[in-house]
Amino acid sequence: MIKKISFINIFISIFVFLMVFFVIMGKPVAAATHDDINLVINNEQVAADVMPIIQNDRTLVPARAVFETLGGNVEWDQSNYMVTVKYDNIVVILKINNKVATVNGEEKTLDVPAAIINGRTMIPARFVAEELGFLVGWVDSTRTVTITSPEKPEEPPVITGSVTEVLAEKGNSTKDNTKVTIQISEPLKSVGSYSTSMLTSPDRFVLDIKDFMVDSKVSDLIYDQKDSPLSAVRISAYNKNDVRIVCDLKEATNPVVDLSKDGKTLTISFRTLTTYFNPMEDGKLVVMLDPGHGESTAGKRSPDGSLREYEFNRAVADKMKNVLEAKGIEVLLTVNSDSDSSLSERCASANNSDADIFVSIHANAFGNGSEWTSPSGWEIYYFQGSVVGNQLAKDISSSNFPQIGIYNRGIKTTENLYVIKHTSIPSVLIEHGFYTNAQEVELLKSNEWRDKVASYNAEGIMKFFNSYKK
Ligand SMILES: [Zn+2]
Repeated sequence: MIKKISFINIFISIFVFLMVFFVIMGKPVAAATHDDINLVINNEQVAADVMPIIQNDRTLVPARAVFETLGGNVEWDQSNYMVTVKYDNIVVILKINNKVATVNGEEKTLDVPAAIINGRTMIPARFVAEELGFLVGWVDSTRTVTITSPEKPEEPPVITGSVTEVLAEKGNSTKDNTKVTIQISEPLKSVGSYSTSMLTSPDRFVLDIKDFMVDSKVSDLIYDQKDSPLSAVRISAYNKNDVRIVCDLKEATNPVVDLSKDGKTLTISFRTLTTYFNPMEDGKLVVMLDPGHGESTAGKRSPDGSLREYEFNRAVADKMKNVLEAKGIEVLLTVNSDSDSSLSERCASANNSDADIFVSIHANAFGNGSEWTSPSGWEIYYFQGSVVGNQLAKDISSSNFPQIGIYNRGIKTTENLYVIKHTSIPSVLIEHGFYTNAQEVELLKSNEWRDKVASYNAEGIMKFFNSYKK
């Protein structure tokens, strides 16, 4: 019985001891009732895997979860049990279980040291946050710690200069048809001080100058020239401290922007409106005819040697000249003899003349030139993207067909034919049939057929010109 009672007593004693032990041992953790403390950072509730706890009336918060959310940098040094929190040039260093912290190297004493709790580095919220410049609050009713970034005062705009003058004027060439000149008071440091963009519907070219303002004397302007893609320039303040210059355009075209050496003049150069063409502007209509090749050009003859291409080309050009001159058109030729001229010379003579259009006369070939081949037909080329060249090709083609009686290979466009690429006026190149085709070469040799194509070509050119006569 005694033994029995002793056994029960011992059992109860151990039980009570263990209860007390657990209560005592558990007390520091249990007293930090971390499950009911809320954390609000910059007005948003934050759920960290370890929530804040209160120790000796001081709140400890998980270093990384809190201060990285605030935009700081948190580093943990395992060998020194040290945590470093950086924000905005301020460095706070805390050691675990050490009441001395340093702030930018200066020692400060804490009420409660940093601690490791559940594997997380917990640091005193108010001390660290306030040293880093954050605002710390405590809402007792909801047991909430609030940490808030200070309101940064809005940076006043930094204006580095002003736009003092905006002009639009005529340029000197088709690539520089219209110049918009922007004068500014202070030099732009680099090409990065401005940016450009194209906007569509309607087409606009936009130039933004950073950290600039507009002088009150600068006003919007209308630009009214038939051959210019520009129609108006509008200048306004944009994005608080930028200047936006909007060029209203008649067509989408990418201008060239140039910043002067002194950084104080921006020039926007627009090329001539691609749809602009007014052959009547100087009161006369002038055609430059370009009979291809020459007597000395290698090859360029029928397999039987009965036709040289240059001879056909010249004959047709001469006939066209007669027909066109009879209709009051001025006709120029790129070559005036049987000899060949380089392609660049041919283009130069067109570009340096009053010619309104350029028509290159050729016949076609296929194969190695020593034997007859089957390809046949008529075709005409214009320079890719040329609206006016396309119209000229259409007018010449439609007057030739079906009257000239050969296969119509159609209207073609390319960027790779030298003479239509390097002439600055609307240009076409006509291939009148194949001298490597045994049937077609007979037409090419025939004076009647040459008369026919020459007059239909001339008729197409007149049709083209007539659409510009008012
Ligand atoms: Zn040719």
